[in-house]
Amino acid sequence: MTTLIGSRIYDDAIYATDRPVPSLWEETAGPEPEDDGKLAGEAATEVAVIGGGIAGLSLVWHLTRRHGIEAVALDAGKIGWGASGRNGGFVSMGYTKRSLDDLARSFSQDEARTVFAAQKAACDYVIDVARSEGLEIDLAGRGEYIVAHRPDRMASLRAKSAAMKAQFGEDWPVFTKEELQEQGYASPEAHGGIYVPHGTGLHPLKYTYGLLGLARSHGGRVHSHSAVVRWERDGSGQHVLHTQDGGRLRARTVVVATNGFTTEGLDGRFDGVTLPALSNILVTWPLTQAERQAQGYTTDVPVADSRNLLFYIRLLKDGRLLFGGRGGTSASEAAGQRYGNYTHRRLTEVFPAWKEVEITHRWRGFVCLTADLVGRVGLFPDDRQTGFLFGCHGSGVAMSGYAAKFLAARIAGAGFNEPFPQCFQRVPQRFPLPSLRVPALAAAYAWYRLKDEVLPA
Ligand SMILES: Cc1cc2nc3c(=O)[nH]c(=O)nc-3n(C[C@H](O)[C@H](O)[C@H](O)COP(=O)(O)OP(=O)(O)OC[C@H]3O[C@@H](n4cnc5c(N)ncnc54)[C@H](O)[C@@H]3O)c2cc1C
Repeated sequence: MTTLIGSRIYDDAIYATDRPVPSLWEETAGPEPEDDGKLAGEAATEVAVIGGGIAGLSLVWHLTRRHGIEAVALDAGKIGWGASGRNGGFVSMGYTKRSLDDLARSFSQDEARTVFAAQKAACDYVIDVARSEGLEIDLAGRGEYIVAHRPDRMASLRAKSAAMKAQFGEDWPVFTKEELQEQGYASPEAHGGIYVPHGTGLHPLKYTYGLLGLARSHGGRVHSHSAVVRWERDGSGQHVLHTQDGGRLRARTVVVATNGFTTEGLDGRFDGVTLPALSNILVTWPLTQAERQAQGYTTDVPVADSRNLLFYIRLLKDGRLLFGGRGGTSASEAAGQRYGNYTHRRLTEVFPAWKEVEITHRWRGFVCLTADLVGRVGLFPDDRQTGFLFGCHGSGVAMSGYAAKFLAARIAGAGFNEPFPQCFQRVPQRFPLPSLRVPALAAAYAWYRLKDEVLPA
């Protein structure tokens, strides 16, 4: 088994980069587009990007196309091996777990507004890229429902809708349980909800493959199966990245875009700054029209519930249900099986009419948390030849590409006329006790489970 090197905080099985994760997306994305294969021998470029997911590929594309800067992405696995090829396909507002009010308290009201504006722009960005570049990525369902999983969660959803109106002049309509049912979403765990008028759903691996084509369309190079195992600087200050099979890539600038799969032990500035967290997805067989009607769930608008540890739910275009949620704190195969079974049981509770429905695919992968729950995108102020682009907090499909566009402009020394928050640009911060990241996550899960399921809202 080929695995990513470095001190890892989960079981080896999850880092096996020599085989794709068997997801629905792998089965339905069509033929894998050509990349530049394994990096062999000596090579040089202006910007080297470690990580060939949505973030890394988008960065190569923007650097080469917009700024005429030579760029190369290296990925340890096939392209799309990481979270980019195996996520739920929600194009949603994210890159932080913190609420806008919380961000306003920590930074400023203006900063919270900029985060909100960037999150919206990131959702539009994906739709614009798909349209302008002619990417066939199965865009489906405009916006997103957030449904109250308990009746007492409606108050906070109503408050959120009112705050959107008051602070941003935005209409985020509130629906009762019955109105939600009329719109095609019924579940014993849906007591009403709100509609977020931003984002959509897509086929994530088709999107990633589309970005691979774009990354290479202006001379960018993308090397799969090229894990970086050593990173040093030569006498002239150039970076030298050594890959697993003896390749060497020299570059003026290196950007780390490895998100939840960040390899520790390459450069101390990236050790202990990310907390990978498992997310878990089940997919059913294609549900017939009659099966969908029996449950009263027919809408293609993506759905998330009001839990802190939320379920994310989509009906795909062929009628399959995609049901995702957190994936526990052990990445062993056995724990994966157990967690998959637990998620299946919860699926049948959320959709009782689908008790007998068969699960055809299940897989999991890492999202990426940071110590202060805010993503990081920028260059080190004291070393502008090293950059970072990670910290999706479970929702990076939209922001990863938009943030890459921002970072490409920064690297080029060019302006960026769109909103991009300062708080994302701060230097990555180490967790206080990095070796206790996973136990701390387990404790946080226990607390949030209590809040979600037991304590009053
Ligand atoms: C199960 C699941 C469901 C999700 N659902 C959603 C969703 O519905 N909506 C949403 O917005 N977000 C979702 N996410 C998060 C989303 O997938 C990520 O935000 C996004 O894919 C991040 O892209 P990336 O390019 O930063 O990272 P990744 O796609 O994870 O890419 C990082 C890459 O770095 C490579 N790498 C690591 N170390 C090295 C090294 N040493 N050398 C070379 N390469 C290396 C890895 O091989 C990997 O391919 C989900 C994630 C998971 C796991």
